[in-house]
Amino acid sequence: MQLEKYEEALDCYRVAQQKNPRNTQIPLQIEKALILKDNKSMGLTIFSLVPGRDICISKNSITNKIQSKIFDFAVKMKNLIYIIVDNETKECIVVDACWDVDGIIKFIKDRHLKLVGAIVTHHHFDHVGGKPPPPFNQLPIKVSGLCDLLKRFPNLKAYIHPLDIPYVLKSNPELSVLFTPIPLSKLPIRNRQSHFCNTNIISLIINFTLNSSSALSNTNVSRIIPTPHNFTLSLGNFTHLKFLHTPGHTEGSQSILVNDTRLFTGDTLMCGCTGRLDLPGGNLKQMKKTLRKRLGELDDKIVVYPGHDYGGDWTTIGIEKKKGVIGKIKRKS
Ligand SMILES: [Zn+2]
Ligand SMILES: [Zn+2]
Repeated sequence: MQLEKYEEALDCYRVAQQKNPRNTQIPLQIEKALILKDNKSMGLTIFSLVPGRDICISKNSITNKIQSKIFDFAVKMKNLIYIIVDNETKECIVVDACWDVDGIIKFIKDRHLKLVGAIVTHHHFDHVGGKPPPPFNQLPIKVSGLCDLLKRFPNLKAYIHPLDIPYVLKSNPELSVLFTPIPLSKLPIRNRQSHFCNTNIISLIINFTLNSSSALSNTNVSRIIPTPHNFTLSLGNFTHLKFLHTPGHTEGSQSILVNDTRLFTGDTLMCGCTGRLDLPGGNLKQMKKTLRKRLGELDDKIVVYPGHDYGGDWTTIGIEKKKGVIGKIKRKS
């Protein structure tokens, strides 16, 4: 959409607001239109893919029974899959490609976009696919996700926090061959520091060895890139991504800050809540620290794109400080 169209839409919403001052939805629509307008002026488009609406749509004739059940489950889970597009080059990055890789690829191809990266916010199967956790791991089920995506795009790289890589590999053993340990000394200096886990990164690097005999891995270049805190990545000429380590929901949860104004938080921060802390790797103390320091110190205007639509598909750091979970943590501490 052209910028002028957003202006037109905003004018319409403002007129509607004057006529219906008590309608609580109109201010939200205005906020959303302003976000879209700002994205456009940054040269960005952000697509939120919703299971049941954009992907995971059962077509009875071609979808088998198990697949159809998985799609139903995806709809219930309310995951949000994001595609961040650099408008100039049409290059795009997918965040948490899961549930229906065919559907995600179709969405990308229909818009003539070029997929250049896959980001994983954390290792849970509803964000990365693979073998589901107990008790579902007894069933012959594999959720479509990162592994299928990397098979379909042989040069694509996946960006995962080092502490969550072992879990992703455990639920997707085929991916092990794609991970070449990178000595810390070979990472660019700007990408070496990690406030939370330097020693863990080193032990992870030592613990993995390359097995390049599989069909998935035909080069010596690692296709799974560990992304410690403050790791940076460019998309096109104007879009910059910064990876923030935000542990609490899982040890290696990460949030991705785009152009210092948009934040993809996975299950670390959703609208008015955080993800569960009772699953393996969950840690209340770390979550409090993440909310208070790492997210609490960010600019209020930053728009948050959560990993699930639990009560909304966007929020802001300011809203979460005022009446959401960042505020609660701040008041308690
Ligand atoms: Zn999760
Ligand atoms: Zn989740």
